[in-house]
Amino acid sequence: HATERLLEIDPTRLSITKTTTPKELLAPKDLIFGHTFTDHMLSLEWTASDGWLAPRITPYQNLSLDPATCVFHYAFTAFEGMKAYKDSKGQCRIFRPDRNMRRLNKSAARIALPAFDGNAFIDLIGKLVKLDNHFIPSERGYSLYLRPTIIGTQRTLGVGPPGSALLYVIASPVGPYYPTGFKAVSLEATDYAVRAWPGGVGDMKLGANYAPCIVPQMQAASRGFHQNLWLFGEEEYITEVGTMNLFVAVKDPQTGEKELITAPLDGTILEGVTRDSVLELARERLVPKGWKVSERKYTMAELAKAAEEDRVLEVFGSGTAAVISPVRKISWKGNLVQCGLPDDVEVGPIAQQMKDWIEEIQYGDIDHPWSVVV
Ligand code: PMP
Repeated sequence: HATERLLEIDPTRLSITKTTTPKELLAPKDLIFGHTFTDHMLSLEWTASDGWLAPRITPYQNLSLDPATCVFHYAFTAFEGMKAYKDSKGQCRIFRPDRNMRRLNKSAARIALPAFDGNAFIDLIGKLVKLDNHFIPSERGYSLYLRPTIIGTQRTLGVGPPGSALLYVIASPVGPYYPTGFKAVSLEATDYAVRAWPGGVGDMKLGANYAPCIVPQMQAASRGFHQNLWLFGEEEYITEVGTMNLFVAVKDPQTGEKELITAPLDGTILEGVTRDSVLELARERLVPKGWKVSERKYTMAELAKAAEEDRVLEVFGSGTAAVISPVRKISWKGNLVQCGLPDDVEVGPIAQQMKDWIEEIQYGDIDHPWSVVV
Protein backbone atom coordinates (compact mmCIF):
# COMPACT_ATOMS: atom_id res chain seq x y z
CA HIS A 1 0.00 0.00 0.00
CA ALA A 2 1.53 3.31 -1.10
CA THR A 3 0.63 5.42 1.97
CA GLU A 4 1.75 2.67 4.37
CA ARG A 5 5.08 2.45 2.60
CA LEU A 6 5.61 6.15 3.33
CA LEU A 7 5.29 5.50 7.09
CA GLU A 8 7.72 2.61 7.22
CA ILE A 9 11.04 2.98 8.97
CA ASP A 10 13.66 0.34 8.30
CA PRO A 11 16.02 -0.01 11.31
CA THR A 12 18.18 -2.49 9.38
CA ARG A 13 19.33 0.36 7.12
CA LEU A 14 20.76 2.28 10.08
CA SER A 15 24.21 3.78 9.50
CA ILE A 16 26.34 4.77 12.48
CA THR A 17 29.10 7.36 12.31
CA LYS A 18 30.84 7.63 15.63
CA THR A 19 32.30 10.83 16.98
CA THR A 20 36.04 11.34 16.78
CA THR A 21 35.92 13.94 19.56
CA PRO A 22 34.12 12.37 22.52
CA LYS A 23 32.92 14.87 25.10
CA GLU A 24 34.23 14.93 28.61
CA LEU A 25 31.67 13.73 31.11
CA LEU A 26 30.52 16.23 33.70
CA ALA A 27 30.45 15.31 37.37
CA PRO A 28 26.88 14.10 38.00
CA LYS A 29 26.19 16.93 40.45
CA ASP A 30 27.00 19.52 37.75
CA LEU A 31 24.34 18.32 35.30
CA ILE A 32 21.73 20.96 34.52
CA PHE A 33 18.51 19.91 32.81
CA GLY A 34 18.80 20.24 29.04
CA HIS A 35 22.19 21.98 29.04
CA THR A 36 24.50 19.23 27.88
CA PHE A 37 23.99 16.55 25.32
CA THR A 38 25.54 13.19 24.55
CA ASP A 39 28.02 12.52 21.74
CA HIS A 40 25.48 11.34 19.15
CA MET A 41 22.08 12.00 17.66
CA LEU A 42 19.62 9.96 15.62
CA SER A 43 18.14 11.43 12.42
CA LEU A 44 15.69 10.31 9.78
CA GLU A 45 14.66 12.31 6.77
CA TRP A 46 11.33 11.97 5.05
CA THR A 47 10.19 13.06 1.63
CA ALA A 48 6.68 12.95 0.24
CA SER A 49 7.89 10.90 -2.71
CA ASP A 50 10.16 8.38 -0.98
CA GLY A 51 8.91 8.18 2.61
CA TRP A 52 11.40 7.61 5.43
CA LEU A 53 15.00 7.38 4.25
CA ALA A 54 17.73 5.33 5.93
CA PRO A 55 18.16 6.20 9.63
CA ARG A 56 21.47 7.71 10.70
CA ILE A 57 23.27 7.96 14.00
CA THR A 58 25.92 10.66 13.71
CA PRO A 59 27.97 12.87 15.99
CA TYR A 60 25.76 15.49 17.67
CA GLN A 61 25.84 18.40 15.25
CA ASN A 62 24.17 21.56 13.99
CA LEU A 63 21.37 21.38 11.46
CA SER A 64 21.78 23.36 8.29
CA LEU A 65 18.47 24.73 7.05
CA ASP A 66 17.57 27.39 4.53
CA PRO A 67 16.06 30.50 6.19
CA ALA A 68 12.89 29.92 4.18
CA THR A 69 12.36 26.47 5.74
CA CYS A 70 8.73 26.18 6.82
CA VAL A 71 9.50 25.22 10.43
CA PHE A 72 10.86 28.72 11.09
CA HIS A 73 7.76 30.50 9.85
CA TYR A 74 4.73 28.36 10.49
CA ALA A 75 5.84 26.26 13.47
CA PHE A 76 5.84 22.86 11.82
CA THR A 77 7.38 21.30 14.90
CA ALA A 78 6.32 18.76 17.50
CA PHE A 79 8.36 17.00 20.14
CA GLU A 80 8.40 14.47 22.94
CA GLY A 81 10.01 14.19 26.34
CA MET A 82 10.89 10.76 27.68
CA LYS A 83 13.62 9.21 29.76
CA ALA A 84 16.02 6.28 29.74
CA TYR A 85 17.21 4.89 33.08
CA LYS A 86 20.06 2.62 34.09
CA ASP A 87 19.09 -0.34 36.26
CA SER A 88 21.21 -2.04 38.92
CA LYS A 89 22.60 -4.46 36.31
CA GLY A 90 23.70 -1.57 34.08
CA GLN A 91 20.98 -2.18 31.48
CA CYS A 92 19.21 0.81 29.93
CA ARG A 93 15.44 1.02 30.18
CA ILE A 94 12.97 3.42 28.61
CA PHE A 95 9.71 4.19 30.39
CA ARG A 96 6.53 3.58 28.35
CA PRO A 97 8.03 4.67 25.01
CA ASP A 98 4.96 3.41 23.12
CA ARG A 99 2.97 6.23 24.74
CA ASN A 100 5.39 8.89 23.57
CA MET A 101 5.44 7.45 20.06
CA ARG A 102 1.65 7.46 19.92
CA ARG A 103 1.55 11.04 21.16
CA LEU A 104 4.22 12.22 18.71
CA ASN A 105 2.36 10.59 15.84
CA LYS A 106 -0.81 12.35 16.94
CA SER A 107 0.98 15.70 17.22
CA ALA A 108 2.67 15.27 13.84
CA ALA A 109 -0.58 14.34 12.12
CA ARG A 110 -2.26 17.53 13.38
CA ILE A 111 0.35 19.73 11.67
CA ALA A 112 0.52 17.77 8.42
CA LEU A 113 3.83 16.09 9.23
CA PRO A 114 4.28 12.43 8.35
CA ALA A 115 3.41 9.55 10.63
CA PHE A 116 6.00 6.89 11.38
CA ASP A 117 6.21 3.37 12.75
CA GLY A 118 6.63 3.91 16.50
CA ASN A 119 8.09 0.47 17.26
CA ALA A 120 10.80 0.81 14.64
CA PHE A 121 11.64 4.24 15.98
CA ILE A 122 11.86 2.93 19.58
CA ASP A 123 14.26 0.30 18.30
CA LEU A 124 16.49 3.03 16.84
CA ILE A 125 16.25 5.19 19.96
CA GLY A 126 17.42 2.15 21.92
CA LYS A 127 20.53 2.00 19.75
CA LEU A 128 21.31 5.66 20.42
CA VAL A 129 20.79 5.18 24.18
CA LYS A 130 23.08 2.16 24.23
CA LEU A 131 25.78 3.92 22.24
CA ASP A 132 25.76 6.89 24.65
CA ASN A 133 24.87 5.02 27.82
CA HIS A 134 28.11 6.05 29.57
CA PHE A 135 26.58 9.54 29.86
CA ILE A 136 23.98 8.19 32.32
CA PRO A 137 25.38 8.25 35.85
CA SER A 138 24.63 5.01 37.69
CA GLU A 139 23.47 6.80 40.84
CA ARG A 140 19.80 6.69 41.65
CA GLY A 141 17.83 9.70 40.45
CA TYR A 142 19.86 10.18 37.26
CA SER A 143 18.54 9.47 33.79
CA LEU A 144 18.90 10.35 30.13
CA TYR A 145 16.27 12.78 28.94
CA LEU A 146 15.38 11.99 25.32
CA ARG A 147 14.00 14.63 23.02
CA PRO A 148 12.46 13.21 19.84
CA THR A 149 11.56 16.10 17.54
CA ILE A 150 9.87 16.27 14.16
CA ILE A 151 10.07 19.33 11.93
CA GLY A 152 8.89 20.33 8.48
CA THR A 153 11.96 21.03 6.35
CA GLN A 154 10.52 22.16 3.06
CA ARG A 155 12.11 25.34 1.78
CA THR A 156 9.10 27.46 0.96
CA LEU A 157 7.11 30.41 2.24
CA GLY A 158 3.96 28.87 0.80
CA VAL A 159 1.57 27.81 3.54
CA GLY A 160 0.89 24.15 2.91
CA PRO A 161 1.77 20.61 3.95
CA PRO A 162 5.56 20.18 4.16
CA GLY A 163 6.90 17.98 1.37
CA SER A 164 9.86 16.98 3.50
CA ALA A 165 10.49 16.43 7.20
CA LEU A 166 13.20 15.56 9.68
CA LEU A 167 12.71 13.32 12.69
CA TYR A 168 15.58 13.41 15.15
CA VAL A 169 16.47 12.54 18.71
CA ILE A 170 18.96 14.24 21.01
CA ALA A 171 19.74 13.08 24.53
CA SER A 172 20.62 15.03 27.65
CA PRO A 173 21.87 13.43 30.89
CA VAL A 174 19.86 14.77 33.84
CA GLY A 175 20.05 14.60 37.59
CA PRO A 176 17.27 14.24 40.15
CA TYR A 177 14.71 17.04 39.98
CA TYR A 178 14.80 17.41 43.76
CA PRO A 179 18.44 16.63 44.63
CA THR A 180 17.92 17.27 48.34
CA GLY A 181 14.45 15.71 48.61
CA PHE A 182 11.02 17.01 47.65
CA LYS A 183 10.37 20.75 47.79
CA ALA A 184 6.69 21.61 47.58
CA VAL A 185 6.01 24.32 44.99
CA SER A 186 3.63 27.25 45.05
CA LEU A 187 1.48 28.09 42.04
CA GLU A 188 -0.24 31.15 40.68
CA ALA A 189 -3.57 30.55 38.97
CA THR A 190 -3.45 32.46 35.67
CA ASP A 191 -6.74 34.21 34.97
CA TYR A 192 -5.76 36.53 32.11
CA ALA A 193 -4.48 34.02 29.53
CA VAL A 194 -5.69 30.63 28.28
CA ARG A 195 -3.34 27.79 27.32
CA ALA A 196 -5.78 25.52 25.49
CA TRP A 197 -9.42 25.27 24.50
CA PRO A 198 -11.78 22.61 23.17
CA GLY A 199 -11.10 22.03 19.49
CA GLY A 200 -7.65 23.58 19.84
CA VAL A 201 -4.28 21.84 19.91
CA GLY A 202 -3.44 22.00 23.62
CA ASP A 203 -3.64 18.22 23.86
CA MET A 204 -0.72 17.89 21.48
CA LYS A 205 2.96 18.47 22.04
CA LEU A 206 3.39 21.11 19.36
CA GLY A 207 6.21 23.62 19.71
CA ALA A 208 3.61 26.31 19.05
CA ASN A 209 1.93 25.54 22.40
CA TYR A 210 5.00 26.31 24.46
CA ALA A 211 6.36 29.74 23.49
CA PRO A 212 3.12 31.55 24.51
CA CYS A 213 3.30 29.99 27.99
CA ILE A 214 6.54 31.67 28.97
CA VAL A 215 5.22 35.17 29.69
CA PRO A 216 2.52 33.96 32.12
CA GLN A 217 5.18 31.76 33.72
CA MET A 218 7.49 34.80 34.08
CA GLN A 219 4.63 36.81 35.56
CA ALA A 220 3.99 34.12 38.17
CA ALA A 221 7.72 33.95 38.92
CA SER A 222 7.91 37.74 39.34
CA ARG A 223 5.41 37.41 42.18
CA GLY A 224 7.37 34.63 43.83
CA PHE A 225 5.55 31.56 42.49
CA HIS A 226 7.32 28.57 40.99
CA GLN A 227 4.81 27.86 38.22
CA ASN A 228 1.51 29.06 36.87
CA LEU A 229 -1.67 27.03 36.97
CA TRP A 230 -3.82 27.10 33.85
CA LEU A 231 -7.55 27.53 34.39
CA PHE A 232 -10.19 27.19 31.71
CA GLY A 233 -13.46 29.00 31.13
CA GLU A 234 -15.71 31.14 33.29
CA GLU A 235 -16.08 28.15 35.60
CA GLU A 236 -12.30 28.29 36.11
CA TYR A 237 -11.71 24.59 35.71
CA ILE A 238 -8.29 23.47 36.91
CA THR A 239 -6.47 22.07 33.87
CA GLU A 240 -2.70 21.70 34.29
CA VAL A 241 0.47 23.35 35.56
CA GLY A 242 3.34 24.64 33.41
CA THR A 243 4.50 21.32 31.97
CA MET A 244 2.74 19.00 34.39
CA ASN A 245 -0.70 17.52 34.87
CA LEU A 246 -2.33 18.16 38.24
CA PHE A 247 -3.85 15.84 40.83
CA VAL A 248 -5.99 16.89 43.79
CA ALA A 249 -6.76 14.55 46.71
CA VAL A 250 -9.82 15.61 48.71
CA LYS A 251 -12.24 14.19 51.25
CA ASP A 252 -15.94 14.10 50.47
CA PRO A 253 -17.83 16.54 52.75
CA GLN A 254 -20.63 14.04 53.49
CA THR A 255 -19.12 10.57 53.38
CA GLY A 256 -15.49 11.40 54.17
CA GLU A 257 -14.52 9.21 51.17
CA LYS A 258 -11.09 10.07 49.75
CA GLU A 259 -11.01 11.03 46.08
CA LEU A 260 -8.04 11.53 43.74
CA ILE A 261 -9.11 13.89 40.96
CA THR A 262 -7.46 14.99 37.73
CA ALA A 263 -8.82 16.87 34.73
CA PRO A 264 -10.39 14.75 31.96
CA LEU A 265 -8.88 14.40 28.47
CA ASP A 266 -11.24 16.88 26.84
CA GLY A 267 -8.67 18.52 24.58
CA THR A 268 -7.59 21.19 27.08
CA ILE A 269 -4.73 19.24 28.70
CA LEU A 270 -1.80 17.24 27.47
CA GLU A 271 -2.31 13.48 27.80
CA GLY A 272 0.63 13.02 30.17
CA VAL A 273 2.32 9.64 30.30
CA THR A 274 2.97 10.21 34.00
CA ARG A 275 -0.69 11.23 34.49
CA ASP A 276 -1.80 7.98 32.90
CA SER A 277 0.65 6.02 35.06
CA VAL A 278 -0.58 7.69 38.27
CA LEU A 279 -4.19 6.95 37.30
CA GLU A 280 -3.48 3.31 36.51
CA LEU A 281 -1.52 2.75 39.71
CA ALA A 282 -4.19 4.55 41.75
CA ARG A 283 -6.95 2.40 40.26
CA GLU A 284 -4.95 -0.75 40.85
CA ARG A 285 -3.58 0.02 44.33
CA LEU A 286 -5.62 2.82 45.98
CA VAL A 287 -9.15 1.90 44.95
CA PRO A 288 -8.96 -1.42 46.88
CA LYS A 289 -8.10 0.72 49.92
CA GLY A 290 -11.33 2.70 49.57
CA TRP A 291 -10.16 5.57 47.36
CA LYS A 292 -12.24 6.93 44.53
CA VAL A 293 -10.24 7.88 41.40
CA SER A 294 -11.83 10.41 39.04
CA GLU A 295 -11.00 12.00 35.73
CA ARG A 296 -13.43 14.84 36.01
CA LYS A 297 -13.76 18.59 35.86
CA TYR A 298 -12.88 20.36 39.09
CA THR A 299 -13.00 24.10 39.59
CA MET A 300 -10.69 26.42 41.45
CA ALA A 301 -13.71 27.49 43.55
CA GLU A 302 -14.33 23.86 44.58
CA LEU A 303 -10.71 23.49 45.60
CA ALA A 304 -10.80 26.76 47.57
CA LYS A 305 -13.99 25.61 49.36
CA ALA A 306 -12.48 22.21 50.16
CA ALA A 307 -9.39 24.00 51.54
CA GLU A 308 -11.57 26.23 53.74
CA GLU A 309 -13.32 23.13 55.06
CA ASP A 310 -9.98 21.44 55.69
CA ARG A 311 -10.77 18.65 53.23
CA VAL A 312 -7.77 18.98 50.89
CA LEU A 313 -5.44 16.08 51.60
CA GLU A 314 -2.75 16.98 49.06
CA VAL A 315 -2.15 18.37 45.58
CA PHE A 316 0.64 17.34 43.21
CA GLY A 317 1.81 17.72 39.64
CA SER A 318 2.93 14.84 37.41
CA GLY A 319 5.36 14.91 34.49
CA THR A 320 8.43 13.25 33.03
CA ALA A 321 10.91 15.79 34.40
CA ALA A 322 9.99 15.68 38.11
CA VAL A 323 7.79 12.55 38.04
CA ILE A 324 5.82 13.99 40.99
CA SER A 325 5.90 17.55 42.28
CA PRO A 326 4.02 18.35 45.50
CA VAL A 327 2.11 21.65 45.67
CA ARG A 328 1.93 23.71 48.86
CA LYS A 329 -0.35 26.57 47.88
CA ILE A 330 -2.10 28.25 44.98
CA SER A 331 -2.60 31.98 44.61
CA TRP A 332 -6.08 32.65 43.23
CA LYS A 333 -7.96 35.93 43.12
CA GLY A 334 -5.68 37.48 45.70
CA ASN A 335 -6.06 34.58 48.16
CA LEU A 336 -3.69 31.76 48.97
CA VAL A 337 -5.39 28.38 48.80
CA GLN A 338 -3.51 25.98 51.10
CA CYS A 339 -3.17 22.51 49.63
CA GLY A 340 -3.09 20.33 52.74
CA LEU A 341 0.64 20.22 53.58
CA PRO A 342 1.66 21.25 57.12
CA ASP A 343 4.33 24.00 57.04
CA ASP A 344 7.18 21.66 57.89
CA VAL A 345 6.19 18.92 55.42
CA GLU A 346 7.28 18.93 51.76
CA VAL A 347 5.28 16.00 50.38
CA GLY A 348 2.00 14.22 51.11
CA PRO A 349 1.72 10.44 51.45
CA ILE A 350 0.03 9.82 48.07
CA ALA A 351 2.56 11.92 46.15
CA GLN A 352 5.43 10.12 47.89
CA GLN A 353 3.84 6.73 47.26
CA MET A 354 3.29 7.50 43.57
CA LYS A 355 6.87 8.65 43.08
CA ASP A 356 8.17 5.48 44.77
CA TRP A 357 5.89 3.20 42.76
CA ILE A 358 6.78 4.85 39.44
CA GLU A 359 10.52 5.04 40.12
CA GLU A 360 10.82 1.40 41.13
CA ILE A 361 9.39 0.58 37.69
CA GLN A 362 11.55 3.14 35.84
CA TYR A 363 14.77 1.91 37.46
CA GLY A 364 13.84 -1.74 36.94
CA ASP A 365 13.78 -2.60 40.67
CA ILE A 366 10.69 -4.59 39.85
CA ASP A 367 9.70 -6.16 36.54
CA HIS A 368 6.91 -4.29 34.86
CA PRO A 369 5.73 -4.05 31.23
CA TRP A 370 6.10 -0.23 31.37
CA SER A 371 9.87 -0.48 31.57
CA VAL A 372 11.39 -1.50 28.24
CA VAL A 373 14.97 -2.78 28.24
CA VAL A 374 16.85 -1.53 25.17
N1 PMP B 1 1.43 18.98 30.34
C1 PMP B 1 2.27 19.61 29.50
C2 PMP B 1 1.81 20.88 28.86
C3 PMP B 1 3.55 19.10 29.25
O1 PMP B 1 4.39 19.71 28.42
C4 PMP B 1 3.94 17.89 29.89
C5 PMP B 1 5.31 17.32 29.65
N2 PMP B 1 5.31 16.45 28.53
C6 PMP B 1 3.02 17.25 30.74
C7 PMP B 1 1.77 17.83 30.94
C8 PMP B 1 3.34 15.95 31.41
O2 PMP B 1 3.38 14.92 30.46
P1 PMP B 1 4.31 13.64 30.68
O3 PMP B 1 3.85 13.00 31.94
O4 PMP B 1 4.07 12.80 29.48
O5 PMP B 1 5.70 14.14 30.78
